[in-house]
Amino acid sequence: MALSGVASVCVNHPSVEAVGRCKQCSKPFCAACKIQGPTGFFCSADCKQKHEVFVKRAQSLDVKKGGLGIGYALSKMMGWAIAVLIIAVVLVVAGTIFNIPVLSPIVHSVRGTIGF
Ligand SMILES: [Zn+2]
Ligand SMILES: [Zn+2]
Repeated sequence: MALSGVASVCVNHPSVEAVGRCKQCSKPFCAACKIQGPTGFFCSADCKQKHEVFVKRAQSLDVKKGGLGIGYALSKMMGWAIAVLIIAVVLVVAGTIFNIPVLSPIVHSVRGTIGF
């Protein structure tokens, strides 16, 4: 991750050429100071931690904000419920019409559950 063309030096070591910029404070850091975090590279452990806190807060804000998120989750759950219901009905109907021995315990329990 070398900076091309930009001759910057490390924020901690003024005599060492920087290899990248901190994702949190955007200060240049050298290879010795470089700290890799799950979200990018940082000039210090402090910056890495700050950025992780920031990312976590942003994520939790997204969750709180999300009418869309909840709506999406709900519609997904509805989709699953409908799919399960359709499978149950198909099982019951198939089990009733063809009288499949393997299916009959399942058919009975599904019938009991949905009261069919
Ligand atoms: Zn930093
Ligand atoms: Zn350094």
